[in-house]
Amino acid sequence: MARVLGIDIRIHLSWFLVFTVVLLSLSNPRGILAQLGPGWTDRELLLVAAVATLLFFVSVVVHELAHATVARAFRMPVSSITLFLLGGVANLAKEPPRAFAEFLMAIAGPLTSLVIGATGLGLCQAAFAPHGGCLGLFDGRVSTTFAALDAVGVVAAYLGLVNVLLAAFNMIPGFPLDGGRVLRSIVWGALRDRGRATRIAARGGQLVAGLLVAVGVWRAIGLDDTFGAVWMGFIAYFLYNAASTSLQQERLAASVSGVRVAPLMTTQFQAVDPRMSLAALVNEHMLPHNARAVAVVQNERFAGLVTIADLRKVEQHDWAVTTVDRVMTPARDIPAVSPESRLMTAIERFGGGELPAMPVVQDGVLVGMLEREAVLGYVRMREMLGLDTRR
Ligand SMILES: [Zn+2]
Repeated sequence: MARVLGIDIRIHLSWFLVFTVVLLSLSNPRGILAQLGPGWTDRELLLVAAVATLLFFVSVVVHELAHATVARAFRMPVSSITLFLLGGVANLAKEPPRAFAEFLMAIAGPLTSLVIGATGLGLCQAAFAPHGGCLGLFDGRVSTTFAALDAVGVVAAYLGLVNVLLAAFNMIPGFPLDGGRVLRSIVWGALRDRGRATRIAARGGQLVAGLLVAVGVWRAIGLDDTFGAVWMGFIAYFLYNAASTSLQQERLAASVSGVRVAPLMTTQFQAVDPRMSLAALVNEHMLPHNARAVAVVQNERFAGLVTIADLRKVEQHDWAVTTVDRVMTPARDIPAVSPESRLMTAIERFGGGELPAMPVVQDGVLVGMLEREAVLGYVRMREMLGLDTRR
């Protein structure tokens, strides 16, 4: 979408919803801006609301860039920032190496929001200094007009307030919110056990989600504020899911810690030459061996992988005249592991993708295949047996 400081800034679909909701609520004749600037026409209100919405959006991006800048200082490359419902997420290529690095990285965002908030409120204070400052604006002692610095002061007041709230919300100690990361880093530093720290912080995230639901119910029934309640519900849902995913990931990592790829890979794999026809591939390798993925090997080097999904690229009646190298996914586009790789590394590389099997390569030579089903079966088996290497 956009590129700032070498970082791709992407916008999740839910952000357009946020943008629209913020713009609508700000340009509402009974909204906060209309209350701060009561003399404004609808057009003036809409203009100020649009500027305020845009600046709100910019301040969230700056918050995320603060995380990213600190991450880079600790050699954690940040490839992109995705803006979604809860704010933003800086996509880290790897997890923080030390508790202190995570602490600084997590706190950088809320601190930045706090600085923006203080600046906004300070500007507002200066703009309305003759009329009792920003407090006078909020309690209605100042009557603003659209002219002069009033509009600027009002936007500054709104941004100041909203950024202070943003900092406060993000500091709620529920993983993966910033506050949850801060909590995790502190527990991690104190116990010297990252896994346990993650479990505690993720439980915190689930707890906070539960509290948000309770607050939502109270707003719906006690305050008759359905909109606020639905909003709380949305945030609770996203937070609960994110916390639960972190918890599952951590359980998985704990369950397979110390396990390597070698014992789980199969050395009885199918391998073909790149010049073999697709028809021969299907009839001689895929069907008889129930193989969803077949390795392609040339001069004893791993050249690529051909899967059922790759076969669909070609019409069936052309299978006899098409060679494997035309449809295979080349080695450079396929994540590979070595026999000594940690099983968790392989699981992370499988990710949520469709890859049915991963090549196990040693010095460029294919030594085995790690099937997704085998990994899943192994993890399930450990769970059923209650095996856990957790200390
Ligand atoms: Zn943040």
